[in-house]
Amino acid sequence: MSDVIVIGGGLAGLAACVALAQTGVTVTLLESRPRLGGRASSFEDLTTGELIDNCQHVAMGCCTNFRHFCRVTGIEASFRRERELFFVAPPTLTTNTPPDVCRFSAIPLPAPLHLTAAFLRLSYLTLREKLALARGLKALARQRPETAQRMNFAEWLAEHRQPANVVERFWWVVLVSALSESLDRVSVAAARKVFVDGFLANRHGWEVWLPTLPLDELYSGQLTEWLTSHRVEVRLKSGVERLVLENDHVVAVDLRNGECLSAKQFVAAVPHQRLCSLLPGAWHNQPPFNLIDQLESAPIASVHLWFDRPITELPHAVLVGRLSQWMFNRSKVPSPQFPAPRENGTTRNSQLETRNYYQVVISNAREAAERSQEQVIAEVVAELKGIWPEANAAKLLHSRMIVEHTAVFSPRPRSEDLRPAQQSPIANLQLAGDWTQTGWPATMEGAVRSGFLAAENIARSFGRETPILQPDLPVSWLTRWWIGSRETFGCDG
Ligand SMILES: Cc1cc2nc3c(=O)[nH]c(=O)nc-3n(C[C@H](O)[C@H](O)[C@H](O)COP(=O)(O)OP(=O)(O)OC[C@H]3O[C@@H](n4cnc5c(N)ncnc54)[C@H](O)[C@@H]3O)c2cc1C
Repeated sequence: MSDVIVIGGGLAGLAACVALAQTGVTVTLLESRPRLGGRASSFEDLTTGELIDNCQHVAMGCCTNFRHFCRVTGIEASFRRERELFFVAPPTLTTNTPPDVCRFSAIPLPAPLHLTAAFLRLSYLTLREKLALARGLKALARQRPETAQRMNFAEWLAEHRQPANVVERFWWVVLVSALSESLDRVSVAAARKVFVDGFLANRHGWEVWLPTLPLDELYSGQLTEWLTSHRVEVRLKSGVERLVLENDHVVAVDLRNGECLSAKQFVAAVPHQRLCSLLPGAWHNQPPFNLIDQLESAPIASVHLWFDRPITELPHAVLVGRLSQWMFNRSKVPSPQFPAPRENGTTRNSQLETRNYYQVVISNAREAAERSQEQVIAEVVAELKGIWPEANAAKLLHSRMIVEHTAVFSPRPRSEDLRPAQQSPIANLQLAGDWTQTGWPATMEGAVRSGFLAAENIARSFGRETPILQPDLPVSWLTRWWIGSRETFGCDG
């Protein structure tokens, strides 16, 4: 019998396992699917034979716990840091020339001045609009938490007289990719979190970290090796049917295959929609379980395109004012940083080489999800052709669209009230998942934080007072002064 059973092998469950293994307790991980990674995973595209991600996943410099998790388990080497982003100006009706590509990178000044030049280079905003944006950023950073939780961000922008162009070409662009929701369905607190942690607090917060391998190779491959070598028993295709409770204590889990496994402590790291089905009915109407179902979800779509030739040399781009929001070039020349697909093993090479493989991400994809795959792909390809003339000569060899309908929870006003703490009312049951109380939106960072917090509670119950949660990036002295208040930061770092 293990000390702890973790149910769910997404990033929350994996982080809990890693942290618990480090404290020396024995752990069994039960995952219903044949692979780990949960929503951050890959599958084989049957036409190309390649392992492709369900969607490109991006981490940022401010994701301190996710990066710690990667460092500890040795998968950090399979990420590359991007210190330059490329913002493609919106299409214009008056000219056929390709749009401006604005380079977005930091200058050697302390935060929040490090991105001043980058903002000034955004050619599709006027100076007046940039000044309004700077005013908006400052007001947002100074926003009091009480209002921030209950107001939606569209209202806040109107109240702070942000010009339409600034809303459409900046606030919308950044927030929809970060939170996957329209601005009227995002709380001011969630918006503030993105801008303070990502852009204002620390010079490195905004930097983008991209996996250089399919997610499955990271989380199912490399990570499984780490877990098994640290005495974590990983059991795939081991769906849990229900938790068995006696005297308000979990004593065991019943698996779908009829097995029953006992442990001292349990972590339920399943999606929020699944949690109640594991619990006896008597708990469904009790807080916090009766609130969890009220969390709403938002869809994300990804369009995968294989061309017969390169369409751009850019590694990625933020596409402003279009259906397509981010383009990721997954076809870089093979290098130790970005290896070619393996000839044997999980990834097979084929006539459709990965060399000209591009992924386009559409967050807040409700509208796209209602249209046919063919229509969306045609619009995305037309947009790429409008940006990169090389694409006009390229032949589209293969394409597909994937829609994750419940990709992330919607960070609506007051949604924080619906997110439970990791310590559940059942003493030996921890909850983990990006949807639990982490202070973060639905991200890999949020999932890892929840797993670390659950592990911290369990370690404490075993008499090991080990701090596991990692601090945020330190907030620069200039940002503190600019915002004018220490208390507006959740964590000092
Ligand atoms: C399309 C898409 C794009 C995204 N892009 C980004 C991004 O760019 N950056 C970012 O940081 N985040 C991104 N996210 C969010 C990120 O993937 C999630 O926040 C994170 O992976 C959630 O991890 P989790 O462990 O909380 O949940 P999950 O990944 O959902 O893991 C839950 C696990 O529990 C398992 N399970 C369920 N029921 C049972 C059961 N009864 N028994 C055993 N196991 C069970 C499931 O199979 C699953 O493996 C994206 C998500 C999606 C869907």
